Amino acid sequence: MKKVAFYTLGCKLNYSETSTIGRIFQERGFEKVEFTDKPDIYVINTCSVTDNADKKCRKIVKEAQKHSPDAFITIVGCYAQLKPKEISEIPGVDAVLGAAEKFQLVDILETFEKKDKAQVYASPISKANTFHNSYSFGDRTRTFLKVQDGCDYSCSFCTIPLARGNSRSDSISNVVRSAEEIAESGVKEIVLTGVNTGDFGLQNGKRVESFFELVQALDKVEGINRFRISSIEPNLLKDEIIEFVSQSQRFMPHFHVPLQSGSNKILKLMRRRYQRELYADRVAKIKSLMPHCCIGVDVIVGFPGETEEDFLETYNFLNELDVSYLHVFPYSERENTLAPDMEGKVSIKDRNRRADMLRILSEKKKRHFYEQNIGKEFTVLFEDDVKDGKMEGWTENYVRVVAKYDPVLVNETKHVRLTQLDAEGLMEAEETFQEVLRH
Ligand code: SF4
Repeated sequence: MKKVAFYTLGCKLNYSETSTIGRIFQERGFEKVEFTDKPDIYVINTCSVTDNADKKCRKIVKEAQKHSPDAFITIVGCYAQLKPKEISEIPGVDAVLGAAEKFQLVDILETFEKKDKAQVYASPISKANTFHNSYSFGDRTRTFLKVQDGCDYSCSFCTIPLARGNSRSDSISNVVRSAEEIAESGVKEIVLTGVNTGDFGLQNGKRVESFFELVQALDKVEGINRFRISSIEPNLLKDEIIEFVSQSQRFMPHFHVPLQSGSNKILKLMRRRYQRELYADRVAKIKSLMPHCCIGVDVIVGFPGETEEDFLETYNFLNELDVSYLHVFPYSERENTLAPDMEGKVSIKDRNRRADMLRILSEKKKRHFYEQNIGKEFTVLFEDDVKDGKMEGWTENYVRVVAKYDPVLVNETKHVRLTQLDAEGLMEAEETFQEVLRH
């Protein structure tokens, strides 16, 4: 039996796809092993958003060669789609597969025999127009379920549409079937993932279903206690979705909504499809119905044309907004996008300084959000990891709770009262000894 090992760079979508490719290998008689277990084949799933994608890819190839010098090394993923030729020239790489080919990897490479030169199978991105159902397994507690792929938007900083193609989705009936399968395996939480998740519903270029319909259908799936929406564009986060989540027992009070900039001038240059007023309105709507809801925000700083004034506009906007944490990214140039040719390049030093300022703000926001929840009761879904005799889990509204390790608690939801923050900023809690059936 041939052994195969995987390495994933990038987002949740990549993790769910690596997992699915892993299952395809297993169904075909391969044994899935750890990276260091001398596998016969390596599959490295790359990302184009990661800085230094090329450097990282080279490093992992080198590591792979160190652990298993004769292994067949295959590169897939967004970076493989964008730069197949460059990757094929990395010493040690045996095959490169693009977005349309990655799920056919076992059929295409068949014998995994090394050739003189790396084999490249990367069709133009327009050929990546089918949807491949994927979900991650491994962690018993939560699964990332891919419901949508690709993006039809054209944000001026983003290469994802070039690496993943047009927006396309699974059908609601398929997603429900996957959720039921996941429930049968004992997993309690599903994170709905996609490139532009809220755009769910396009099949072969036609809008046949909607994200709201998907949310309603999944809410009825027995056996899954918790659903989270990984990220949703503010313009697609409609009132009906917020209202439904506020009433649902299964959809968690937690949204991650990319803002990218708090300056309307910069939002326009970024080609985003909303202005800051719409974002503020979405946050107000969420908070009016779910005051305890956690809201995460993505922000990019140092976009071309962002003056110090524009940045301060973003800073002040976020400072006043009732959000819980920020994911901050200093702007980074990507080939084949519009932004690098725009005027007003911001120095790397200023990009990093602005990012640091927002990261400090994020810490303050998070602490404030955590403190607001002290004394309140929630349920926590405890995870499998044990560190220094302690285990951790999330509340419904995404507060990280730490507790003394108890094997009985793993993958169980427990009703707790949040008590205080520990030195590392994690929440401590006391059990309220009340069995909670649904969440
Ligand atoms: S919405 Fe914009 S940033 Fe997000 S994937 Fe699409 S093009 Fe990229």
